Amino acid sequence: MASGRWFSLFLLLGFFVGGLHASAGDADPTYRTCVEQCEKTGSVGDISITHCLFSTSDWAANNNTWYMQEPLYLQWKQLNCRSDCCYHCMMQRENEREALGLSPVKYHGKWPFKRIYVFQEPALAALSAVGLIIHFVGWLSFFILVNYKLPFRPNSKRTYYEYTGLWHIYGFLSMNAWFWSTIFHTRDFELTEKLDYSSAVALLGYSLMLSLLRTFDVKDEATRVMFATPILGFVTTHILYLNFYELDYGWNMKVCVVMGIIQLLVWAIWVGMKHHPHRFKLWTVVFGGALSMLLKINDFPPYNGYVDAHALWHATIIPLTHLWWSFINSDAEYRTAMLVKKSD
Ligand SMILES: [Zn+2]
Repeated sequence: MASGRWFSLFLLLGFFVGGLHASAGDADPTYRTCVEQCEKTGSVGDISITHCLFSTSDWAANNNTWYMQEPLYLQWKQLNCRSDCCYHCMMQRENEREALGLSPVKYHGKWPFKRIYVFQEPALAALSAVGLIIHFVGWLSFFILVNYKLPFRPNSKRTYYEYTGLWHIYGFLSMNAWFWSTIFHTRDFELTEKLDYSSAVALLGYSLMLSLLRTFDVKDEATRVMFATPILGFVTTHILYLNFYELDYGWNMKVCVVMGIIQLLVWAIWVGMKHHPHRFKLWTVVFGGALSMLLKINDFPPYNGYVDAHALWHATIIPLTHLWWSFINSDAEYRTAMLVKKSD
């Protein structure tokens, strides 16, 4: 009985604390009322939002389809209505705040950005797309290297390099994360937001695990599982928490920064101790990564409504990604050469 009461108290506390984690902008009652009104009336000030205007034929179509509660196009219209209302109310609220001499605040975890056509955050969407391409090119060069350029182990199709499979998964998770990042920065819906955050966390958690496996030279399966289980368990729990309990931006940022810092430290210590022939590439990535991390922590609002700290972070990541894949390729070549020499 007592434990039941404690449990309900915790649950209540959880909801209360959870509710506190909205961004300052969307916690503002003026903004909330504006969005509510806009969804009902289809207008913010003099702007009318066509997505929120449902014609009688829309509803007639809705009622006719007995087998489908809501036709897809109506759901799509509603999604766009909500997102347009949020955007115009945010812009209106920011203009009011500016007139009062107040500095910008975040809405739903992000600074207010100006739109270009369908692109909600044009600079970020473009930078994410470039990031996706760089990852694809990097992964493709790795694929060609291990499958066509480097020798296989005798009488098998297995590479000498022990981390081939792990880097392939890394490539897939990276491309997945940048793909959803491009979509999310183009159109911010609850679904695209969750897919972006989840993919980013999955990538960060996996690369943390991979950094430990590579630097500790973990080659046998049992030890790999031992390293992987706690990290993957934590990352899975965190993703479930974000998706089904509370998308808590502050907490997620802390988790991501900690996972990022640990892997940078792990690589830095390793590269400092080992005389890897391609250590300069890794040093550059580690230093560049640390600098870009500062942008993540030192979050400033968008300049002219287009480029904020997050956009600069996206930009710095692009050359680092190229160099990073170049290091992965060099590492495969170096280890293969060493193992071939040993087996001769
Ligand atoms: Zn982003």
